[in-house]
Amino acid sequence: MRRAVCPGSFDPIHNGHLEVIARAASLFDEVIVAVSTNPAKKYRFTLAERLDMARETLASLKGIVVEPVGDGLLAEYCRQRGVSAIVKGLRSSSDFDYELPMATMNRQLSGVETVFLPAEAHYIHLSSTLIKEVAGLGGSVSDYVPRSVHRRMVAGGSSVDDQPRG
Ligand code: ADP
Repeated sequence: MRRAVCPGSFDPIHNGHLEVIARAASLFDEVIVAVSTNPAKKYRFTLAERLDMARETLASLKGIVVEPVGDGLLAEYCRQRGVSAIVKGLRSSSDFDYELPMATMNRQLSGVETVFLPAEAHYIHLSSTLIKEVAGLGGSVSDYVPRSVHRRMVAGGSSVDDQPRG
């Protein structure tokens, strides 16, 4: 069983994430979408909401599990779950510069490899931050997020300092 993890805060999950997760699912037997919470960060959606949105959106895809991940070492999480690869989407050289040291450190810590997938050109400009900014200023983001996420954004999700899961 080849198991991969796609980590991120997914605040909220968007079409760029979905595209990379679907490609990861075609390469591995199981993909864990690991929803993280950094206590130092302010989130638009609670952890429960971010998990719900990811689960609602990914329900129709086979071999995908969505679960929360605490703020501990990702390498240790991978070791405990028997994860052989971390899958990351790359949008730009600055993504690569940011990701490369983490990939090397994770491999040295637990042997887990990082697989980089080039972002789909249509979604290469997408980030959760930009989507929230555009939506906050009244722009339409319906082309960039799944329907359940769009519904919550229009309804006005919570703005919270999320707490890490116990
Ligand atoms: P974080 O919380 O780690 O800042 P996100 O939750 O926004 O990041 O994204 C998680 C991961 O999804 C990123 O590390 C990246 O690998 C991937 N990703 C984000 N946006 C895109 C995109 N537009 N296209 C492809 N992959 C993306």
